[in-house]
Amino acid sequence: MPDRLDAYRRKRDAKRTPEPVPSGSPAPSRGDTFVVQQHHARSLHWDLRLERDGVLVSWAVPRGIPRDPDRNHLAVHTEDHPMEYATFHGEIPAGEYGAGRMTIYDRGTYATEKWRDDEVIVVFDGAKVSGRYVLFRTGGKRGNDWMIHRMDPLPAGWTRMPEGLSPAEATPAKRLPADDGAYAFELHWPGQRAFAAVSGGRLDLRADGTREITSEYPALRAMAESLAPTECLLDGVVVAFHRVPVYMAFDLLWHNGESTVDEPYAARRERLLALELAGTHWQTPPHFAGGGAFARDTAREQGLPGVIAKRLDAPYGAGDWRAIPAGPRRR
Ligand code: MN
Repeated sequence: MPDRLDAYRRKRDAKRTPEPVPSGSPAPSRGDTFVVQQHHARSLHWDLRLERDGVLVSWAVPRGIPRDPDRNHLAVHTEDHPMEYATFHGEIPAGEYGAGRMTIYDRGTYATEKWRDDEVIVVFDGAKVSGRYVLFRTGGKRGNDWMIHRMDPLPAGWTRMPEGLSPAEATPAKRLPADDGAYAFELHWPGQRAFAAVSGGRLDLRADGTREITSEYPALRAMAESLAPTECLLDGVVVAFHRVPVYMAFDLLWHNGESTVDEPYAARRERLLALELAGTHWQTPPHFAGGGAFARDTAREQGLPGVIAKRLDAPYGAGDWRAIPAGPRRR
């Protein structure tokens, strides 16, 4: 007897995938579980699944569940999944359907306000996903393209990523500051200064905070995928190491719905380091709290133009950054 899981079974070989592939027909169920899975398939997306009539009705959402009611996200309707899938996480092997790592982003219950073939209104009650949402079909009757829209205001405590911030500039200085211990010292990396906005696993790279240059550095896109589901706004510089671009992220301006620009440098640094940016094409360069002379010697040995001194207790853009030359190389 054909049932609602036929399409699901056709795409999978139970001997090759760790995913549940039940042979029995789905049994009727209460229908209030939801799960959002983060799926690092060929293209990163989030899978939203709602329990309904004994199966998980599913959509693939490339940019994740929107928190902003002003931004609707595409949601592609996919085949019904078995109830057992609500707890699935693991690695789908290369060559199999949906190959890649899948983790559970959130699970919880939901209430249905409306359920029609082309429009679904639900209220989520999860740890990360909560509030009232509508899913609506945008293509024709046979199309799989839907949109998901948040009907509630922004979640409490979540602010939008800031736009129009200017990159903080360093003022040239001849000498290291006298009150060494009040400063952190970073090596001065020459390159393309850029803000990196990371959201929904996607990167938006802005030269000097304004001009979009994401497409000029395709190797950096994976940084956003590796950070997902973290959302953040980074300040940094794209440095070419033997023509290989590396994004050196040296500051954090917004993090998961919170602006950090008013926090002191030391607190922003702590948050930045917790992101553990350590990829082939992205990293957080070291800083030296105090120890300006050591940092300057290091810059000189590495052939860098100098060091940037930043007050440990100052908010972002407070005008306290100083660029100090490394001086000539000693022999
Ligand atoms: Mn998927």
